[in-house]
Amino acid sequence: MINYITKAATARILNIKAKDVAEIRVVKGKVLARYKINRGNCCTFISFKTYQQDFYSFRINAHLTESYEVLNMADVNDLDSIRAFVKFESSHDTHLVEIYQTDYTCSCTDFQNQKQYGLPFPGKKVCRHLLPVAKHFGFNSFSELIKNNKSFAKAA
Ligand SMILES: [Zn+2]
Repeated sequence: MINYITKAATARILNIKAKDVAEIRVVKGKVLARYKINRGNCCTFISFKTYQQDFYSFRINAHLTESYEVLNMADVNDLDSIRAFVKFESSHDTHLVEIYQTDYTCSCTDFQNQKQYGLPFPGKKVCRHLLPVAKHFGFNSFSELIKNNKSFAKAA
């Protein structure tokens, strides 16, 4: 199980610094977050659903705040078997995103953890490298690219 209820996620949700999150714990099916404000502590409840949304949006929006490069290894017109390398400016590593007719994968640890340990909720595996590839091929979302990939496969 992937722990997506973290202090870092809590800080993003509350729009505060991670070091100001004093404590998070589950109380009656919600997360009770205690955090520092000017004079002392404040606390609030956050739903699991909010954390799940953060899990996705944090990864999907990563490319908006940092520059990256996409290197396409396959024929640009061949949407059936996309292989593209993505490198974010802040990372030393280049990751390979591969899209097949029925599935997709990324070589990054984040994606591999989701594959190995499963998502903590129903959904699709996601990492920050997927949307840059979709945009590289002229799509606005990764699901749009996948959809196109499948129709491409059917037409062949
Ligand atoms: Zn990735």
